Amino acid sequence: MTDKRTELADLGEFKLIEQLTKSFQNKQPETLLGIGDDAAVLDTGNQQCQVVSTDLLVEGVHFDLTYMPLKHLGYKAVAVNVSDICAMNATPKQITVSIAVSNRFSVEALEELYAGIQTACAAYEADLIGGDTTSSQSGLLISITAIGVGRQEQITYRSGAKEYDLLVVSGDLGGAYMGLQVLEREKEVFKTNPNIQPDLDGHDYILQRQLKPEARLDVVRYLKELGVKPTSMIDVSDGLASEILHLCKASNVGCHLYDEKIPIDAKTSMVAIDFNLDPSMCALNGGEDYELLFTIDQKDVELIQSNPNFSIIGHMTNAADGTYFIDKSGSAIGLLS
Ligand code: ADP
Ligand code: MG
Repeated sequence: MTDKRTELADLGEFKLIEQLTKSFQNKQPETLLGIGDDAAVLDTGNQQCQVVSTDLLVEGVHFDLTYMPLKHLGYKAVAVNVSDICAMNATPKQITVSIAVSNRFSVEALEELYAGIQTACAAYEADLIGGDTTSSQSGLLISITAIGVGRQEQITYRSGAKEYDLLVVSGDLGGAYMGLQVLEREKEVFKTNPNIQPDLDGHDYILQRQLKPEARLDVVRYLKELGVKPTSMIDVSDGLASEILHLCKASNVGCHLYDEKIPIDAKTSMVAIDFNLDPSMCALNGGEDYELLFTIDQKDVELIQSNPNFSIIGHMTNAADGTYFIDKSGSAIGLLS
């Protein structure tokens, strides 16, 4: 320790992780990949790998129990971890769950949380194999570790994209963010007048995107059935722009992302416009959609194009050409995370 003091805000999350971990070196031959992807990759022999990912969810930072039912929170906490396993093109197998709880919570409340965890374990066919339980001074913290498996040649990293590869995303984007906006709006209304009932009518789709996201394990299965191995992949937890930049940086390529190709559900667009927001910006900078973003070799284009689960939204370029968002008028704007 020196006397120097650097504020956390000066670095940001990704630079902080880099700074804290840069002097660590992997010594174990089984560690094929440590820090830097959606999950670590471990060689378990016979061309098989285990993939491991951890996420920590903190009350007041990642979730708000005024509108997040505990059962949904349990489900979502598992889904976001399974999503990181899917982002490696692997299959989830086990999870561990650790909680820190304040005495504000009853046993019944925690049973609700675990009912959601159990539903998610059933949906993704993952076993709960352990965890830890401790007390907290400030609300609820949940840390989940997910373990998955995959054949070594099928594991997909962020770093494999090549120039001319096509950029593809599953499902649609921006819905989870708009769901959050509606929930936050109704929370404010409720705070000023608790007698007013929340107006959530007609918002089922975006609320479900926010409160009960699904990991796209089905996409991992489709890709396998189609015989397509993406050249790179990541899950969309933080927003399309930041995830594309992660793929570009890890793969040392540039990209062209086309605004008109970004899949946005009509219900998401309508609510975005009601909030005076540009739907594309919600997809780019929102987050929590947990769709899979990946690149494919041009030879696979027909297999992907004909599948309604996928949208081709751009292509990769030479790193020196930069990372660009091409708006609906055809202007190229530098992509920022
Ligand atoms: P994701 O959004 O896919 O969950 P993160 O952005 O949280 O990924 O993390 C990026 C990488 O940094 C991952 O490989 C993760 O394991 C690693 N990482 C994050 N926080 C830490 C930490 N405190 N110490 C060591 N590695 C970390
Ligand atoms: Mg991820």
